[in-house]
Formats: sequence, structure tokens, C-alpha cells
Amino acid sequence: MLTEPLLIRNAACVLTGTEARYGSTDILIEAGRIAAIGPDVVAPAAARIVHAHNHLVTPGLVNAHWHSPMQLSPGTSDRMNHKVFMWENQVDTANRSQEEIYLSAVVGCLQMLKSGTTSVIDHFPEQGFGFDDVETVVKAFEDCGMRAVVALRIFDGEYSDIVPPPDRVTPELRAALAAGNTLNPRPMQDSLDLVRAAIGKLDRTAGRIRVFPAPSNPVRCSDALLVACQEMAESLDTGVHCHLLETRTQAELAARAYGRSMVEHMERIGAFSGRWSCAHCNWVSEAEIATMSRLGAVAVLNPESNLKIGSGIPPIPALLAAGVPCALGTDGASTNDNLILQDAMQLVAILHRAGEPDRRRWVTVDDAIAMATTGGAKAMLEGELGRLVPGAKADLVLYDLAAPWWVPLNDAAQQWVFGERGGSVDTVIVDGKVVVENGRAHTIDEKAVLNAAKSILPAVRSRNAGVRAIAQAVAALE
Ligand SMILES: [Zn+2]
Repeated sequence: MLTEPLLIRNAACVLTGTEARYGSTDILIEAGRIAAIGPDVVAPAAARIVHAHNHLVTPGLVNAHWHSPMQLSPGTSDRMNHKVFMWENQVDTANRSQEEIYLSAVVGCLQMLKSGTTSVIDHFPEQGFGFDDVETVVKAFEDCGMRAVVALRIFDGEYSDIVPPPDRVTPELRAALAAGNTLNPRPMQDSLDLVRAAIGKLDRTAGRIRVFPAPSNPVRCSDALLVACQEMAESLDTGVHCHLLETRTQAELAARAYGRSMVEHMERIGAFSGRWSCAHCNWVSEAEIATMSRLGAVAVLNPESNLKIGSGIPPIPALLAAGVPCALGTDGASTNDNLILQDAMQLVAILHRAGEPDRRRWVTVDDAIAMATTGGAKAMLEGELGRLVPGAKADLVLYDLAAPWWVPLNDAAQQWVFGERGGSVDTVIVDGKVVVENGRAHTIDEKAVLNAAKSILPAVRSRNAGVRAIAQAVAALE
């Protein structure tokens, strides 16, 4: 369906990426792309005018690591480490109905769109899933008007990183795992067939929703599965998304299993390339960083999640110095209770400053913006996203500069990263279509969705009593 041309007229300031243009600027959007940008752009007669006087225009932010099923769990997981939160999370997310899957994703989309994030990688779900589950979550992104990668989370091995070592497993935990483990692996071929079918039918749905294979975590997967994901990505031109070395335990398990580091092993078996985007990377070694840089694999940093559950601190300056492409994610709502990507931009910029006496080595505002825009676009395999230049895909956000946190406007880039938190987002455009206007979603009945989402969590929890027993037994040991 053709969309009407849009002319954003008289923007007070435009951040084209890391560059700021102050003074009245127009942006013409045609067929989902930026057609022209500059002063006094002439619009076609049919163009709809979006008045941007006293507004800042930025690229839409890219949240390159999120889990839609966790969206109903904010405020439930303080002082939980990785093992404890992972099992608690099972209680909240397993055995969902289609409506629950849909609503959970839509609530997250509303949070993101209304705070200036237009694209997301949803590492979905966690347990075994069916084709109907994938169709449902794709429909959520389609209905909301977001750009998304649905990264299908598969595994064919044990979640050995979140089960205590055998000598510490209590009889209660053993019994609970035998009775209600929602993370029992599924045969590799079944998962691969499902992912291939989903890519065949749903990839590029509505022109902006992609489907990628996404190993849950290499330590939970066989070599054959990892290699198959790389081959599928090559043959179907997708990316591969995964968790990578989030915890120290995962690095230790890799060393024990392979006699070498995780990334070294993946490269050696032919299961690593520039198509991979890897969430966390807290425990990557210098050699692994060099490999990521050489191959162009993306490190998707989630510093808020890492700090909240104490899983580690990503080596951001070392990754940047080595030239590893970096992106930013929020992770799921049980390890980071909001989806405000501006928080992540601020945190990556300042996280290492106290420990680095040479301020010239500090992460810059431009670094943080690049991660949240073009870096995320690379993780999505979107080469023409994240910058406001002619030819780029038209995902952009108008912020109302009359809001108090923009007054006075001294430096738009610094205030975007360190100041505003999404509260002044006025208009959001994705793929050339207005999806938020005057701070309200156009695409979704917000009130109805939020009302329906209120009562889901208690119902899911009551049906997952078996997983609750595992969570409690693990928590008792941690
Ligand atoms: Zn995650």
C-alpha cells in the first residue's frame, strides 16, 4: 500500500546521526524513505505537512536486545542474580495463551514507541514454541507499526549455566526439575524446521518485520545447531542473534567444554561471522574481542540489565578501541524495568569513567548515539537505518523542545543522551508512517490493551506452579 508523502516542516534542530543541524530544516519523506533534507524543501502537492516548529528531530532509536514475554514482569525481580531471575522468569512467561503473547509484546511496543524507540530485536520466546506463537508476535509488531526482528530463540542442550553443579543439587530441586522443567531441550531438527518455516512465511512481513535464527546461548546449543544457524543465515540472508558470555559461569562452561574460549570455538566450527549480533559480551577476552572486530560481529550491550542482576560489566572501551560494532539493548523487563533506550545511551557513556583517569579515553556522546542508532541497525542487518540522510529508511522522532528538560537547548546531542528520557516525544514516524502523534499511539487502542494486560501475570503464575518449585529450590541455593 502506498503511503502519502510527508513533509516535516521547520524543525528547530535535526540530529542527522551524530551531527546536529540547528535552524529551520525540512525533511521530505516519500515511499518510506527520506527523499530530501534541508531548508525550504519543496513538497509534492499531495504531501501531508507535519509542523515541527520548536521541535527536535532525531533518528528513531534501535533497541537491539529485548524479550517481549518478560514485558509483564517489571517490579518483580529486585536483588535477583542471573540464576534466580532466569527461573523466576519461567514462572512468569511459560505456557502463555496467544492473547497473552500478543498483549505482552504490544505493551512493550507502546513503551518503546512513546519514548522514541522505533526498532527492536525481540529474542523470542524462551521455552519451546510453535508456529502460531511466532505469527502472534509478528502480528503485534505489524499492528503497532514498529520495525522489528523476531529472533527465534532455540536450543538443543541443557541450560547448564543456570542449574547448580550436580554436587549441589538438592533432592527437592532434582524432583522439581524432573516434574516441571520448561527448558527441556527439543530435538535440533524440529527447531530448525520451525525457524526455516517462519522465515519463509513471515520474514519481511509488512516490509519491516524480519525473522532470524537465534540460539538462546551458545553454551546451551550443540555445535551442529550453531553451524546450522550460520548456514541458514547465509542461505536466507538473515542475521543470527544470541546471548553471549553474559555471566562468568558461561565463560567457565565454554572453557571446560571446548578447551578454548566460546568465540574461538564458534569461529573454529564455522558458526560465527558478521551476521551475528551478540547480547551482553560481559566476559569476552581480548582475543575474543579481536575476533569480533575482524569478523564484524555486533556486541549488543545491555548495561542496565547487567548491573541490576550483577552479571558483569561489558568491556565497552576495549570493544570500541578494537573497532567492534556495538549496539544497545534494554533486555527484558525483569532485569530492566523500563525500555527507555536513552538510559542505556547515558550508561554506556559514563559507566567506565570513574575507573579511567584519562578522560580522553572516555566513551563519547557520539559513540553512545551511534550504538543506539546505526549500531542497532547493523545488528538488524539494516544498512539504511539510523541516520537522517537522503535514501535512508524514514524512522524518526519529533521531541517537543518546549518541555522543561530541553530548556535551554544548549547541545541537542548531549541533552538527548544525558537529559531527556522520552517524556517529550510528540510524533513518531516508522517506515514513513505516523504511528504516534501528540504523544498518543495511532495504531493501537492503548487503553484497551493496557486494561487487558493488567490481569495476565497472576493467571500465568497460577498455571506454572511446577516451575515455581524449581525457582524456589534454586533460590534457596543462591
Ligand atoms: Zn536477554
